[in-house]
Amino acid sequence: MDGTTMQFQRSILLDPVQYVKGVGPARAKLLEQLGVQTVEDLLMYFPRRYEDRSRFVSIASVTEGQTETVSGSIASVAERKARTGLHIVQAIVTDASGSLIATWFNQPYLLSYLRKGRPVVLHGRIGRYGGKLQIEAPEYELMEEGADNSLHMGRIVPIYTVKELSQRFLRQAVKTALDRFLRYLPDPVPMPMRRAHALPNAQAAVAAIHFPEAMERAQAARNRFVFEEFLLLQLGVAMRRRQVKDHPAGISYTVEGPLVEAFRTSLPFTLTPGQVKTVSEIFGDMGLPKPMHRLLQGDVGSGKTLVAAHALVLAVQNGYQATVMVPTEILAEQHYVTLARWLAPLGIDAVLLVSGTPTALRRQIVKRIADGEADIIIGTHALLQEAVAFHKLGLVVIDEQHKFGVAQRSLLSQKGTHPDILVMTATPIPRTLAMTVYGDLDVSTIDGLPPGRQPVRTVWLKEDERAQAYQLVRQQLVQGRQAFVIYPLVDETERQGQAGSTSEAPAEDVPTARVLRAATAMAKELQQEVFPEYQVGLLHGRMKSEEKDAVMKRFAANELHLLVSTVIVEVGIDVPNATVMVVEHADRFGLSQLHQLRGRIGRGWAESFCVLVATPTTDEGRERLEAMVQTTDGFEIAEVDLALRGPGEFFGTRQHGLPELRLGNILKDVKLLEAARQEAFALIERDPPMAKPEHQLLRQRLHRQFPGVREFLTAVG
Ligand code: ADP
Ligand code: MG
Repeated sequence: MDGTTMQFQRSILLDPVQYVKGVGPARAKLLEQLGVQTVEDLLMYFPRRYEDRSRFVSIASVTEGQTETVSGSIASVAERKARTGLHIVQAIVTDASGSLIATWFNQPYLLSYLRKGRPVVLHGRIGRYGGKLQIEAPEYELMEEGADNSLHMGRIVPIYTVKELSQRFLRQAVKTALDRFLRYLPDPVPMPMRRAHALPNAQAAVAAIHFPEAMERAQAARNRFVFEEFLLLQLGVAMRRRQVKDHPAGISYTVEGPLVEAFRTSLPFTLTPGQVKTVSEIFGDMGLPKPMHRLLQGDVGSGKTLVAAHALVLAVQNGYQATVMVPTEILAEQHYVTLARWLAPLGIDAVLLVSGTPTALRRQIVKRIADGEADIIIGTHALLQEAVAFHKLGLVVIDEQHKFGVAQRSLLSQKGTHPDILVMTATPIPRTLAMTVYGDLDVSTIDGLPPGRQPVRTVWLKEDERAQAYQLVRQQLVQGRQAFVIYPLVDETERQGQAGSTSEAPAEDVPTARVLRAATAMAKELQQEVFPEYQVGLLHGRMKSEEKDAVMKRFAANELHLLVSTVIVEVGIDVPNATVMVVEHADRFGLSQLHQLRGRIGRGWAESFCVLVATPTTDEGRERLEAMVQTTDGFEIAEVDLALRGPGEFFGTRQHGLPELRLGNILKDVKLLEAARQEAFALIERDPPMAKPEHQLLRQRLHRQFPGVREFLTAVG
């Protein structure tokens, strides 16, 4: 078809839904409440379920406890008031085989609809009432006596979300729209692609999704639209990735050299196979003239810092500066100490810049960064300040990247000229989510942990079993080990969400902080009442950075034996002698957060123990704790977390910007997601600007269907 025809047809579909015969202004308003404004919206308003009314179960053969659909006519209707004040409407409905009672609560208006003799279809749970079969609060649909009910009976019938409209009306409106307008519906999915995946074309699929001849047809039709949705999403990802990859002006590092060599030989341990693999992937990227955009993921304790250090050294060897940005001052300090220990002997100059850095010192450091005297710059958000200008920034490493917003990441890389970017995360991203959210990044995964690690043994104790937790702590302290006790809140006034970085806090509301055993008070109690013979320290987000530093240093030096802390220790802290962690109110933490916390122990050769203390009030809370007890594998945890919270919550909406999916489910429809991803990437390879005529519609859709696609695409960059 030529362009003009296409435009014309498009405009017909975009006409207000009122153009559909039988839809007047009043109902158009009600349709609007369902998000249906245009003819096309109506065609694309898919049913939420189906009822197979091609053959009804006879009333005599319904099964108690099951949800059934029956058809009959109304024999009588009565209303009454229960002792509780509940208004009850009851109808006796009969078919050739028998009768049952249909009961509705607090819907007195039903009396005027349920007239004797009227044919009705009921859908609901079968129970018993006074020895008789009853269908409880069923969905009902009244048929017209003597009218044509063929749209509503004798077939598989679509059931829509209708709000104030009736199923009957909506079904009829859809049918009318299909008859009149379906032929104008274009198909954005190119034919060869449909063929390759045996997907019905758009018109056939829309027809089948509303009025399927068989349930399999409806499923196939749905799959087609899920595929289309994923295809659009992945096209966006593929385009973005292409943009990044095609960037001409990246740095091409010479990959081997004396400094890297010297670094390798100076290391106190050999790399794990997972580290070897990821270092070589990163070096591969850095050797290319295009900017690296790589995500390095590895479970807590897998040794990401060491992998990143290789990249840092390579950048320096090539005459560039490299920077490491982390979310907290404590972590920055720790990275600084670790990296300086490794790198100073090689003559590499590392500096630390955090908000707590005193002014005079800061001025000095900023100058050294600008002059190019500092090779490696480690810091927090403080690095983002305007005053910080690099001499020659070639590599940006962002640790625990899920703690940063999109803008912050790009702000930092803009301080160089297309520097290589390595983002690191210990929140392992389930593969399906990685394909969508991080679809345009190359992903390296460190499999396995350094040798000698033993999985942390995790137990879950109820609140009244806390004494056992303390006993376990004592056993460890006696052996010269150290312990963490983690509290969700700092003191009675602080609410979760302020307690450090709690972007992964569980969704439920935090009840009055009053009921929580606050960290401050508990530290005192633990010191005075429970462990008087040991040194107890306290760490929380409200302390000044020098105070935090001092506490961490003392803990690292084993001068403090037990550290009471908020989630502030969640990321990065590395004290291998700490072998036991008690998490109070563990059900208040998100699953990933618990896993991160637990990652603070089990970092040495000794066996470690994690004790979750909680009496959860929700099923989800219980499931989180059970998952923690059952596995220490970060990927499994992430899968459970994703399943419990859904992709939207998984990262906190702030960062991921994942467009809302209407139909597709990235967990259940993985096969379709993978297929769509392959097709999308192949398409962009063939036709990068999507300029070919057969790709026009897809391109338009891309912008229409995902209005957020722009932000989303920037977000993943
Ligand atoms: P994460 O991936 O959680 O950031 P780290 O980089 O903090 O992990 O490393 C965890 C611990 O493992 C550190 O104490 C580090 O020195 C140690 N480590 C890293 N790589 C190895 C290795 N190949 N062999 C032994 N220990 C290692
Ligand atoms: Mg780390």
